[in-house]
Amino acid sequence: MQQEFDSLHKPAESRVVEIVKQFRFEAAHFLPRVPEGHKCGRMHGHSFRFEIKLNGEVNPQTGWLMDFGDITSVVKPLLEKYLDHNLLNEVPGLENPTSEEVAIWLWKRLKPSMPFLTEIIVHETCNARCIYKG
Ligand SMILES: [Zn+2]
Repeated sequence: MQQEFDSLHKPAESRVVEIVKQFRFEAAHFLPRVPEGHKCGRMHGHSFRFEIKLNGEVNPQTGWLMDFGDITSVVKPLLEKYLDHNLLNEVPGLENPTSEEVAIWLWKRLKPSMPFLTEIIVHETCNARCIYKG
């Protein structure tokens, strides 16, 4: 008896995906709450990088979870107005601008426009990053 392979009769496969978009900005900061003499208490700069992860089901109509261009439209104004080439300590809500605080600050401002947002990773250096999951 011949068994035919019929992909239409296989159980439904998941349509859940994770998409990631990366951004970067250059900024100065200092950490006002570190102990006296700690190097992070001095003004210095970083090439910050952050990744935004979204998780959810692919829209059958568009074939997308979210248009990468729409992600950029939400993030770019924040980058330009507050983060890039700024002193982060002067940004409202970032008076103590650790990577952790930057990740939470971003989350608060992005989540309302990105219901599928699940994770933000802020890279302060090549070797050090903070992961925030809301
Ligand atoms: Zn630093």
